[in-house]
Amino acid sequence: MSAQRSQELAAEFAARVLHGVSMAKHTSWHVGGPADLFFTPRDAADLAAFMRQLPPDMPLLWIGLGSNLLVRDGGIRGAVVATHGALGALERLSATRIQAEAGVPCARIARQCVKWGLGPAEFFAGIPGTLGGALAMNAGAWGGETWRHVIEVDVLDRRGTRHTRQAADYEIGYRSVKGPDNEWFIGARLEFERAPGVNTDAIRELLDKRKETQPIGEWSCGSVFTNPPGDHAARLIESAGLKGFRIGDASVSLKHANFIINHGAARAADVEALIMHVQSTVARIHGISLHTEVRIVGEPA
Ligand SMILES: Cc1cc2nc3c(=O)[nH]c(=O)nc-3n(C[C@H](O)[C@H](O)[C@H](O)COP(=O)(O)OP(=O)(O)OC[C@H]3O[C@@H](n4cnc5c(N)ncnc54)[C@H](O)[C@@H]3O)c2cc1C
Repeated sequence: MSAQRSQELAAEFAARVLHGVSMAKHTSWHVGGPADLFFTPRDAADLAAFMRQLPPDMPLLWIGLGSNLLVRDGGIRGAVVATHGALGALERLSATRIQAEAGVPCARIARQCVKWGLGPAEFFAGIPGTLGGALAMNAGAWGGETWRHVIEVDVLDRRGTRHTRQAADYEIGYRSVKGPDNEWFIGARLEFERAPGVNTDAIRELLDKRKETQPIGEWSCGSVFTNPPGDHAARLIESAGLKGFRIGDASVSLKHANFIINHGAARAADVEALIMHVQSTVARIHGISLHTEVRIVGEPA
């Protein structure tokens, strides 16, 4: 099936796409079935050329580090584009402005901004994804949020044409970004403030604090649910008695109730069943609907 689909690509790309790549290797939950086609571009121009020749009806998913993705066990039909390890340029443009490509890990932005004496970018250290994923999610931590720093973004559309868009072209909310359809981020220009006193101690302290309250090092996707207005998903889940609740090899973390852990052998179906169980239990006990922050994609087994 996947080899057949690659025949729909231009010869150059048909030779370079991988077939049947396990998405479990590309997600922090370590679950998910195979992608028909998996493409890692050489750079932004190569990616634009790939997009130009992609059949218009072929489903397409861009991923960063897969730290907010639940891929179902049947995998992904169509093509997956991976930006991590490809779009990795990071530079300073002026006293307070930087430019980064979508595949740059957020942690690298945090560290580099400290070196440049810029802040507040330390919050990026707590987000184990790429800038592209952070732009798509409006990722945030410790009071910081990605889009507070965005001046403009570079995007590719489905035909491989590049556009520069202003922050004002997007409707930004809590873990929510609405912009033109069928466009993907290839980079952004971000504005920070001069912070001459900032040093890596600030990052270390924040990461230490996180380790005390979150199951860092275990296989998870961070917070599974967004916080409902005026409350915390973790509080609602814990008070519904769900800490430690297990389906297959997936369980609600004992350390932080908004995390679901894969203990090693969970399937995506276990994680998804657990998500639904948490939603229905919290709705029954508290009368509140929890919405997933994680993106659920792909086909069931
Ligand atoms: C231990 C842990 C802690 C976490 N803590 C936080 C936290 O404090 N705050 C927080 O906000 N998140 C947190 N997360 C979640 C996650 O790291 C963020 O949502 C991150 O921004 C996802 O980036 P990614 O590159 O991994 O994106 P992926 O998971 O690969 O993708 C996420 C979504 O973005 C889309 N996407 C990815 N790249 C692009 C692109 N270039 N253009 C368009 N769309 C794209 C994907 O299609 C998908 O819909 C945590 C995750 C873990 C595992």
